[in-house]
Amino acid sequence: MVNVTKTFLPPLEEYQNLLKKIWENEWLTNRGQFTLELEEKLKIYLGLDNILITNNGTIPLQIALKLLGNNGEIITTPFSYVATTSSIIWENCKPIFVDINEDFLTIDETKIENAITPNTTAILATHVFGNPCHIEEIEKIAKKHKLYIIYDAAHCFGVKYKNQSIFKYGTISTCSFHATKIFHTGEGGAIISNDKELTKKIYYSHNFGHDGPLNFHGLGINAKISELQSAMGITVLNHIDTILKKRKEVVDYYNTNLNLNKLKIIKIRENTEWNYSYYPIILSSENKLLEVQKELNIHNIFPRRYFYPSLNTIKYVNGEKMPISESISSRVLCLPLYAGIDSSDLKKIVSIVNKTIC
Ligand SMILES: *Cc1c(COP(=O)(O)O)cnc(C)c1O
Repeated sequence: MVNVTKTFLPPLEEYQNLLKKIWENEWLTNRGQFTLELEEKLKIYLGLDNILITNNGTIPLQIALKLLGNNGEIITTPFSYVATTSSIIWENCKPIFVDINEDFLTIDETKIENAITPNTTAILATHVFGNPCHIEEIEKIAKKHKLYIIYDAAHCFGVKYKNQSIFKYGTISTCSFHATKIFHTGEGGAIISNDKELTKKIYYSHNFGHDGPLNFHGLGINAKISELQSAMGITVLNHIDTILKKRKEVVDYYNTNLNLNKLKIIKIRENTEWNYSYYPIILSSENKLLEVQKELNIHNIFPRRYFYPSLNTIKYVNGEKMPISESISSRVLCLPLYAGIDSSDLKKIVSIVNKTIC
């Protein structure tokens, strides 16, 4: 069976060596040795001044919205994973959707200003499949209207924009280290802030608001990662360059061999060092997509409809119509992409897709 992704597992002994140390330390969480070590290593690898690692990639969105959303209207994209929208509603803010650019698949920056009202407090946009939003234009709009920018950068591990980590843009960026993401800790995530005062607030927020054992700085939640997860991150990080290299080879293979006259692929923004995180193909119609999916399934190959549905159409959201996002969502299929995928499987996938779309 070939799934859309396969979690990278490091050699078991490498993880066991760290587990032995955890047994010696008898210390499982609350920012232990391995959590601190992973943060330091990530800062160096990604070129960041600060990063706080967390228990998943959703709580960082909720912390960001708790600190910056102020129960207001949040301008956001309908084309993302559900966590982007559900976090807004969970934090008692209101999602205001802005449709996407059909080539880049990120929020259409030219439509943002129209959606701003006196109640708008922030823009929460997703760097879709690791493809950056139009960062400069969003910054300009945010500055003019005094809005915060939160980037859901869940897909962006290792992405660089204009020669620096994409996490360096926006007021806050968040990342996911879920097992299906490029770099993972099983479950996990991170929050990166580019404002010193805010960095402190985030730190308190992620640990119940504790300021020492007896004092509380403010309201908080538990977003701490465990030592078991941090140790997994350290072992995975040792292999990250190989992971990225192998993923690039798969993407290159698809780019060269798929019939790109009959389907559309994502357009990566200029000045981006991409991370080969997903391989979305956009078919001519939903029927065509279902046909391709069915043919692949028959051969035990399981691509994923991602992102589907367009988030404005979810029942509890009930947003306005978003024609481009709804159209793309109904036609986009992510093909299997992971380090170590069999070359005969790749060949089979390409041949089935090409045959079905012609
Ligand atoms: C994976 C993902 C999340 C959620 O991350 P978790 O670590 O699973 O909580 C949020 N946003 C996007 C775009 C994602 O792909």
